[in-house]
Amino acid sequence: MPVTSRREVLSLGAALLGAAATGAGRAAGAPPANSSGAIGADLVVLNARIHTVEDGMPRAEACAVLDGRFIAVGASDEIRSFAGKRTEVIDAQGMTVIPGFIDAHSHPAWGGIEELVNVNLDLRSIGEIVEAIRARAAETPPGEWVLGFKYDDTKVRDGRQIDIDDLDAAAPDHPVYVVHRGGHTAWYNRAAFERAGVNARTPDPPGGHIYKRDGRLTGRVAERANELFDPVRPSGSTREQREAGVALISEMMTAAGLTSVHDAQCNRDYAIAYQDAYHAGSMRFRVSFLAQGENIYRDLKAAGVYSGFGDEWLRLCGVKFVADGSASERTMAMSTAYVGRPDDHGILTMTQEELDAAVEDAHRHRFQVGIHANGDVAIDRVLQAYERALRIEPRRDSRHRIEHCSLVNPDLLRRIKATGSIPTPFYTYIHYNGDKWSEYGEEKMQWMFAHRSFLDYGIPVAGASDYIPGPYEPLMAIQSMVTRTDMNGRVWGPNQRISVGEALKICTQNGAYASFEEHLKGSIRAGKFADFAILADDPHDVEPERIKHIEVVRTVVGGRTMYSRH
Ligand SMILES: [Zn+2]
Repeated sequence: MPVTSRREVLSLGAALLGAAATGAGRAAGAPPANSSGAIGADLVVLNARIHTVEDGMPRAEACAVLDGRFIAVGASDEIRSFAGKRTEVIDAQGMTVIPGFIDAHSHPAWGGIEELVNVNLDLRSIGEIVEAIRARAAETPPGEWVLGFKYDDTKVRDGRQIDIDDLDAAAPDHPVYVVHRGGHTAWYNRAAFERAGVNARTPDPPGGHIYKRDGRLTGRVAERANELFDPVRPSGSTREQREAGVALISEMMTAAGLTSVHDAQCNRDYAIAYQDAYHAGSMRFRVSFLAQGENIYRDLKAAGVYSGFGDEWLRLCGVKFVADGSASERTMAMSTAYVGRPDDHGILTMTQEELDAAVEDAHRHRFQVGIHANGDVAIDRVLQAYERALRIEPRRDSRHRIEHCSLVNPDLLRRIKATGSIPTPFYTYIHYNGDKWSEYGEEKMQWMFAHRSFLDYGIPVAGASDYIPGPYEPLMAIQSMVTRTDMNGRVWGPNQRISVGEALKICTQNGAYASFEEHLKGSIRAGKFADFAILADDPHDVEPERIKHIEVVRTVVGGRTMYSRH
């Protein structure tokens, strides 16, 4: 798609926000001169505290933007000369400017569609959850599904998990599905089990578990056992709703300073939703996606398409596989047991043979590979598969990714470095999920979400929320990585603390590197996309435990204001 039409479609979002549709209608490559003969920029920011995240010039006061890219970065006096008659001039009045945040692993389409269509169960008691499901069932024809999301077993005050009886009481005449916020475990009522033909005698499928107590179903189902329900559970959304879901989540995420996201599990419906929203002019962020699911990955591969296909707004990053369970749902595969459950080492969802074959095939087809691996056992297996593929077909810069890469050790760190792999650990989890870490214990927490260790080994670790599972606000992430302190003030693995500057680089430049886009974005430098955020305060200056409260004043993507607090 040519630059001019892209500008036109995106001008809708900018117009909604009251930003000038700068440069629209002018031919690219023919910038007008201002009265003094200098280039008339579209946008100029003056009197700012700019953190460029560029080693050569880490600080600046001002920048100029033309045709969606930075054209100059420097002192306010120099940059002022780029302002012409039609230039939008922002006087930052000493506020902080940073490169736009990049979330290298999240699920924006999933999140936006859920918000729009299904029942939000981010509630604090089972009673409230039952009430919310009952209310939705009352307006849903009997026999149709009620779908709930964002349930989190450690955030309810009842001290127990929801179960099949709660869900039957809430909606006896509807099949009910409640997915944990983490996305790996779910709860179903009896009508749902009947619909799927699953009962207490159904054996666990490989890589999955159906939970029972005294021989009866509890309602909880983990990992690949959820696939037993896939044939009968509807997607629950229309194409129009999915497009609107992308628009909604892009509005929410740009309000937090995000300018790029990596969708880490993009199926066919989501890819279409992104493209629909992009063409409608309602998608405010850039998306790089990891294709997951045979129906999209197989077809892309068959078409001969590979990593990098697309444009700077919507781009194929690679392919995604899942090797083990979840950190927040305490199902990840570890060499040592969970605290209080001596026989529980978590769940592996792929065999070594399956991993080896999937990685070799994707590597040969020039796909960047991202594999979900939380526990040390799963990470070891993924590295074996990467090491094997690189032996079979050596490639100098493959950047295969280890999604989450939660629990590491010196051997794994050394091999991650040696293979040039990219970890994308949760960056808001220490702060947000402190109520879960006692099941791992102090000792393991020194090696979990190990941002300090990755940096010390020279590994370009990227920042990742995994939203829905984790909060997506990057300022909370910076606070979490810097303080390693949870919401109740408890510190977890203080040896893994990093500085604000290191955290900022993880949240920007390293995210760009993780999708081979570091030449395009991730720092403030002439030639790169004008993706940046203006913050009311400098995260370097405020008390570390107040970083998450810093206000995002404006978010600019490709020179266009996509969020403004006013
Ligand atoms: Zn994920």
